[in-house]
Amino acid sequence: MNAHEGKNIVWHHSAISKLDRQRSHGHNSLMVWFTGLSGSGKSTIANALQYQLHQRGISVYLLDGDNLRHGINKNLAFSETDRKENIRRTAEIGKLFVEAGIVVLAALISPFEEDREMAKAIVGAAEFIEVYVKCPIHECESRDPKGLYKRARNGEIKQFTGIDQPYEEPQNPDITLDTSILDVDKAVANLLSFLEKKLLFNGSEK
Ligand code: ADP
Repeated sequence: MNAHEGKNIVWHHSAISKLDRQRSHGHNSLMVWFTGLSGSGKSTIANALQYQLHQRGISVYLLDGDNLRHGINKNLAFSETDRKENIRRTAEIGKLFVEAGIVVLAALISPFEEDREMAKAIVGAAEFIEVYVKCPIHECESRDPKGLYKRARNGEIKQFTGIDQPYEEPQNPDITLDTSILDVDKAVANLLSFLEKKLLFNGSEK
């Protein structure tokens, strides 16, 4: 039972629909969810994709997991329960962006299949694209852009994905980018061609 069930809270319908908003933006809206190990390249690729979409006149916004943890998610840590809540909030925010006609990118480790499925269910499968940023852990660890693997190996960080918490590989991602093979430009080019058709506004409800 959710906290508001039985209380007098009724959904208020907007006079402006999602389709109206997509029409104003001139493209469809959807959520692109990047999952992968720390250091796999999620933020780097999502930022570069954001730039390229913006250059093409697409209204786009990046929700970076680390940045969200400075604000709306600052009361959450890295237990399985907190990770789930982190993902739930991010997906709910993403849903609002999609409703507003904006392409929203999210870069979060999101290590558990069940939580990613929840995110997809919140946003709606037709407007949710799962991108698996794949990279072997030894490569992520040698990149270690934030020095986190070193600290996790020293025992300074607990519940670190790939070290003392598992990463469940996506079973059915919409697209996989292996960053041990693809450079950033090629990964972004693959994403742009994947997204091109999906963003064409045709005025139909998903
Ligand atoms: P994440 O957001 O997944 O934790 P980051 O994007 O913060 O990862 O860090 C990835 C690091 O790996 C960056 O320092 C980036 O420059 C580097 N890197 C090397 N090769 C690639 C690649 N092919 N794709 C993405 N990042 C790469």
